[in-house]
Order: sequence, then structure tokens, then C-alpha cells
Amino acid sequence: MNNFTYTRATSVKDAVQKSTGDRNAMFIAGGTNLVDRLKVFLDEPSQLIDISRLEMNRIEKTSGLRLGALVSNTAVADHPDVRRDYPILARAILAGASQQIRNMATVGGNLLQRTRCPYYYDTAFACNKRQPGSGCPALTGVNRIHAILGASDQCVAVHPSDMCVALAALDAVVEVSSPKGKRQILFTDFHRLPGNTPQRDSNLEPGELITAVILPPVNFAKSGVYLKLRDRTSYAFALISVAAAVDLTGEQIKDVRLAMGGVAHKPWRPTEAEKFLIGKKADATTFQQAAEIALQQAKPLEHNSFKVELAKRAIRRALTVSAKGGGVV
Ligand SMILES: Cc1cc2nc3c(=O)[nH]c(=O)nc-3n(C[C@H](O)[C@H](O)[C@H](O)COP(=O)(O)OP(=O)(O)OC[C@H]3O[C@@H](n4cnc5c(N)ncnc54)[C@H](O)[C@@H]3O)c2cc1C
Repeated sequence: MNNFTYTRATSVKDAVQKSTGDRNAMFIAGGTNLVDRLKVFLDEPSQLIDISRLEMNRIEKTSGLRLGALVSNTAVADHPDVRRDYPILARAILAGASQQIRNMATVGGNLLQRTRCPYYYDTAFACNKRQPGSGCPALTGVNRIHAILGASDQCVAVHPSDMCVALAALDAVVEVSSPKGKRQILFTDFHRLPGNTPQRDSNLEPGELITAVILPPVNFAKSGVYLKLRDRTSYAFALISVAAAVDLTGEQIKDVRLAMGGVAHKPWRPTEAEKFLIGKKADATTFQQAAEIALQQAKPLEHNSFKVELAKRAIRRALTVSAKGGGVV
């Protein structure tokens, strides 16, 4: 175990300054993922910078909503504006973890929670994400929960978040601060595919602090649904999840949002399927064709080919329910 310092940041500026020039500094928010990682030495920071008391814990009305990075997952899911205008997000959050964990977990921390690949967590195994170049036992090992889209020969881990699938569908924007100032990152560009650098989950630069997530207005998001399929009906990560929102003119699809979880190293937007859907009649045949397109590039591993059919069925069902006005799937 390495020794590390613990300090409480007094402001965003102070947090960013404390981490400047120290690639091994880490921020801690709710601690629900990071503390688990520290306990098994997956992360060995030089300093832990506690950001949990900073003033980033408000939900503000903009043209849509601005969620401070420290707002708890519970507070987001319970907020009346989120429930009314972005039910897809409230339902995705409530499908994850437990009430106690959601009370502690924050918006920023949820984005940067790490994969639940068992080979990553078990330091007795090699893992390219943990130690680049050491190998990926999941490629030939037990790979039932792993990726079917966008993986590489270095990593087949999936991103575990439910909230992030909804945020991808909503075209959210991540606001970050660093000594260089502020910048905004489109949610779909925030997380990365593994490629040759599976150790990097996101496009955040060292020392950058997430300050907020911005939800743009999406006038048809009220019809949004989140369908999560997993081994247990509660307190389990998604094998497959789908966030969908359909905007109709009569029976014709005017606009649509589709995102998938449990399939890739990042929340997955099947944009070709979305393009296909626009202008089509909202019926079972169209939804089946969209599902086929969404999974066209799927490359299942030895133990997870079931995910391809499961994902298609989940897409069909989520689109069907959303086209009927939304609600619980
Ligand atoms: C038993 C269990 C079950 C779970 N089930 C689910 C589930 O079904 N679905 C799901 O989606 N999630 C699930 N989770 C994960 C949970 O949602 C995350 O642990 C939580 O969202 C992380 O938020 P946090 O604030 O606690 O982050 P922390 O643990 O504090 O931090 C996580 C990471 O984010 C970084 N970080 C935190 N805030 C910032 C910031 N503002 N700027 C830059 N970096 C930051 C930290 O340095 C760290 O690397 C589960 C967790 C547990 C323990």
C-alpha cells in the first residue's frame, strides 16, 4: 500500500490547483466506487482531494437543466423537473444500485465509475485496463457480461452505468474545469472505446474536474423509457439496457433517441438505427428492422452471444412502449 495525503478542497479553483501537476492525484465525491477500488489497490493515488463539500450540489433551470456534479443520484431522480421532463433519466438512475448507494453517489462520480469486469477487479489476473500491456484474460475466459460492440483485442469490458445511458440518449453535455479554464464535452464524446488505450475510460485530461452535466431541452423526452435487463431484478448491473424516446406525428416517427448499456466500453448510441427510424411508420416491423441495424456490427464472445438477441428484443420493446407515450416498461 502506498501512503497518500487527504485534503478537503475549499472551492473548485482550490480542487483544480491541488491536482495540478500531480498525475496521481484523485478526486473523491461520494466514494461509493473509489473507496472499493482503493481497498483492493486498483488505484494508488498520491493525494485524495475531497470535493464532496463544494458548492456543486444544485439543480438549476436553464433552457433545460444543469445538474451540479455533486448532486446525489437520489436527488436527480427525485427532482420534479427531472421526473416530468426527463423521466428516462429518473428511471435509469432508479434502476441502478440501492437507495443507500444512490444517496451517496454523485452525478460526476457516476460518469467516472469503472467497469465491473471481474478480471479488472481481481489483481491476481492480468488486465490491460489496470496494467497496460499485461493482457486481457476476458477475451478467452468467462466473458458472459462483456462487450459485443466496439471492443478491441485489448479490452472487452463494458461501462456499467445506467444513468450514463440516459444521458447519452439525451445528448447531455459535460462541463469541466481545469487550470486552463472551463470546457464542455458532448456526452457522446466523453467516454472512450478501448482501442489501444483501455486504461482510459474518458477523454478527461489529468486534473480536470467535472463541475456539471447539462441537459438540453428535448421536447419529446417525456415519452422516454429505460429498460434494464439483468440477472436479478434489483441490485445488479445491466446485461443489456436501452434508453429510448420516440417523437411521433400521427403514426410517423419524427425524431428518436436510442442508447444502449451493457454492450460496449461506453454508452452506445446506434446512430444508424436512429437515422433509419426517422420518417418510418412506428410499428413492429420498423422497430425490428431498427434493432437489426443497431446490432449489425455486433461481435459476440464465446459466452455472450445471447446478448445480441436480448438487445434486439429490448430495443423493440423500449421503442414500442415509448411510441405509446412512455411509462414503465
Ligand atoms: C454494490 C454497488 C452496486 C451498484 N450498482 C449500480 C448499478 O446497478 N447501476 C449503476 O449505474 N451504478 C451502480 N453502482 C455504481 C454507483 O452508481 C457509483 O459507484 C457511483 O455513481 C459513483 O459516484 P460517487 O460519487 O460515489 O463516485 P466516487 O466513488 O467518489 O468516484 C468515482 C470516480 O469518479 C471520480 N470523480 C468523482 N467526482 C468527480 C468529479 N466531479 N470530477 C472528476 N472526477 C470525479 C473519482 O476520482 C473516481 O475515480 C453500484 C455501486 C455499488 C457499490
